[in-house]
Amino acid sequence: MKNLLNTNVCIIGAGPGGAVTALFLAKAGISCILIDKAVFPRDKICGDALSGKVVSVLNKLDPTIIERLNTSPIQINSWGINFIAPNFKELKIPFKMNYDVNNSPIGFIAKRLDFDNFLVNEVRKQPLINFIEGNEIIDFVFKNDGWKLSSLANELNIHTKLLIAADGAHSIFAKRFGNTKVEPEHYCAGIRAYYKGVKDLDKDNFIELIFFEEFLPGYFWIFPLPDGQANVGVAMRSDIISKRKINLKKSMLDAIENNPLLKERFKDAVLKEDIKGFGLPLGSKKRKISGKNFMLVGDAASLIDPFSGEGIGNAMKSGMIAAQITEKCISLNNYRQEIIQQYDTEVYNKLWSELNLSSKMQKLVNYPKLFNLVVNKANKNKVLRETIICMFDDLDIREKLKHPSFYLKLIFSD
Ligand SMILES: Cc1cc2nc3c(=O)[nH]c(=O)nc-3n(C[C@H](O)[C@H](O)[C@H](O)COP(=O)(O)OP(=O)(O)OC[C@H]3O[C@@H](n4cnc5c(N)ncnc54)[C@H](O)[C@@H]3O)c2cc1C
Repeated sequence: MKNLLNTNVCIIGAGPGGAVTALFLAKAGISCILIDKAVFPRDKICGDALSGKVVSVLNKLDPTIIERLNTSPIQINSWGINFIAPNFKELKIPFKMNYDVNNSPIGFIAKRLDFDNFLVNEVRKQPLINFIEGNEIIDFVFKNDGWKLSSLANELNIHTKLLIAADGAHSIFAKRFGNTKVEPEHYCAGIRAYYKGVKDLDKDNFIELIFFEEFLPGYFWIFPLPDGQANVGVAMRSDIISKRKINLKKSMLDAIENNPLLKERFKDAVLKEDIKGFGLPLGSKKRKISGKNFMLVGDAASLIDPFSGEGIGNAMKSGMIAAQITEKCISLNNYRQEIIQQYDTEVYNKLWSELNLSSKMQKLVNYPKLFNLVVNKANKNKVLRETIICMFDDLDIREKLKHPSFYLKLIFSD
């Protein structure tokens, strides 16, 4: 006979999306079960870059979390992005104009092994969260106005009125009940390697996005890490990989060995562990992300930015919204569709303009000549450079990049 736990809310997956959902629920005085198949600390294939959105969600949760992260040795502060155009010209864009490295940074870089464990440690402090790790959910049945979940180990069954699936890019719940399928033109494949000894990493830990023509509209990245290592990887849209028959790992190693931009920098670099790959479900298309007594959070809801590949911030933001909708369901004792579907509206109200714009930028990046032109001009033109810096804070400015008139003005500007 299996052990049966009854709860109002069960969250599957304790990655950033699931952990933050549970923490927001605890903040609202709501208890939940949070279950993960892994035992933490656990690795997650990622670029390990934590954007301003991560900082902003954590500040809403509890500003002392960012203070703890800021002083923790697991992370380094990052102050901007170095874009490298297909013609190898650089464009260094700080996240903020006239930044001061003594102030609190906008972005961080931390290995996911450490960052996710940092969040799980916050979870462990909360008595309202029943955190169960090392237990994989393998079956779901809709029963008695809720979901009955069965786990692989420990003879455990859970009955929950509301299910929050934050089980990542390979979510089995989203596939079976969320009607989500992998669509190669809205999906990326990415690979990650940890190297020690890469030369010329930026002194203020700017992350490097290198737009080699062979990977467009994807990119090759080098992100500095706290222990002197670097997170190095490539991500590309799956339909393009198939069309061009690209072996991502081989192409990445070829670039490291032979590309004049990388060859010298990697000459003495040592690969610290196997190169690993994982999927990135892109938010370049609106989907139904809730249903009968459930909500999908983070990668399970396909919310990764199609231009930058950033998904941690969106996973957390969707988790924050899922907690707000859960609070509503519980206070009204109503888990019906009319309440739960507000989740879709709220998530897309907050994220769609940005996701949509990023889809358009992903398409523009596919024109190397245009990319080269923007970078060349921005290096010469202070106003344009400042416009791009402001893009990180101001969506209206990013909006300008969508319009052909922006590029026409650019061509004829000094
Ligand atoms: C190569 C690559 C590079 C990336 N780089 C960046 C980057 O630099 N910055 C950025 O912001 N984003 C990046 N992303 C995206 C980012 O990794 C994801 O968007 C983010 O991890 C989503 O968080 P999540 O909580 O939704 O899912 P996850 O972090 O995947 O967590 C899901 C959790 O669910 C658990 N789980 C899964 N199935 C079950 C089950 N059946 N039962 C119990 N538990 C289960 C897993 O063990 C896992 O802990 C990258 C992704 C890839 C692949």
